[in-house]
Amino acid sequence: MREQNVAALVVSLLSNVRYLTGFTGSHGVAVITSSDAWFLTDTRYRTQSAHEVRGFSRIITMHDLWKTIASRRLLGGCRRVAFESEAVTYAQYALFRNAVNRATLVPSRNLVEGLAIVKDAEELASLSRAVEISDRVFLEILPLLRPGVSEREIAAEISYRQRCHGAEGDAFEPIVAGGTRGASPHARASAKAVKSGEFVTLDFGCTVDGYCSDLTRTIGVGRIERGRREAYATVLGAQREAIDVARAGMVASDLDAVARARIVADGFGRFFTHSLGHGLGLRIHERPRVSRLSTDKLQVGSVITIEPGIYVSDRYGVRIEDDIVLTSSGCTVLTTAPKELLIL
Ligand code: ZN
Ligand code: ZN
Repeated sequence: MREQNVAALVVSLLSNVRYLTGFTGSHGVAVITSSDAWFLTDTRYRTQSAHEVRGFSRIITMHDLWKTIASRRLLGGCRRVAFESEAVTYAQYALFRNAVNRATLVPSRNLVEGLAIVKDAEELASLSRAVEISDRVFLEILPLLRPGVSEREIAAEISYRQRCHGAEGDAFEPIVAGGTRGASPHARASAKAVKSGEFVTLDFGCTVDGYCSDLTRTIGVGRIERGRREAYATVLGAQREAIDVARAGMVASDLDAVARARIVADGFGRFFTHSLGHGLGLRIHERPRVSRLSTDKLQVGSVITIEPGIYVSDRYGVRIEDDIVLTSSGCTVLTTAPKELLIL
């Protein structure tokens, strides 16, 4: 707050509210000033917030939370108030702007995210548990990947099984993309049936205590032609090379460059169309960015994904993704799902 020269901070992005207060519901705002810390929610969450929220004085209201911040004078005489520009709708902003007419509202990003980059032991335990569940579900799903079964059916099985094994829910809607659909990195599961001779890309994750796992594997069904197997070998090689050198202290773009160099050297450079990875925590995509242009410095205790891919339009896609924790000398790979090319 001092860095940004603000006297108060209003946090409304739910993952950040959870990080700061412990609240897991769907409607809540935290207000932090130099002397006070308030948590506001509505009457539906009276009991839940009493159990979950620690370190914040609770305000339960039937009125709009933004209006309540102003009407209860929670900001005191603070002149400059930061809010999360990504988490506030224009309507909320207009309402708040009107209600706190004397304060300057400062749109901010990453005020809380900066604190969340490094995970403590408890956070790592929850995230590791989420990774374990996804790994286990991956093994269970393999026998179901047969010609004729639809992508949606596989996605439904993934969600169902993750919950059965103790996950709160999906970290995001599972991606199941076979054949030419695999060439779209974020294809949603469709009614398309798995076909022999195709790659199927599975990308899914779950949450435990709010912490996300994120796992991608590409599986061959039936006979896979040589060019595709070569692309797979390149992605796997690039992924392993990046994991081998990843460590705290590195600039993220240098890590991206290691995987990218391998893919370029093998002749697939123009088909690797996204970043190498991303930070992972209470949000599925968070800091640090692990991209070609990222100047973020990797830190001990950060969790990132390593997920190079090759996407050849109208033909096929390959992606392999693991979750790793950075240490001063290297990294610990959390993901245990096998990643040699599996042909079913
Ligand atoms: Zn993923
Ligand atoms: Zn990812």
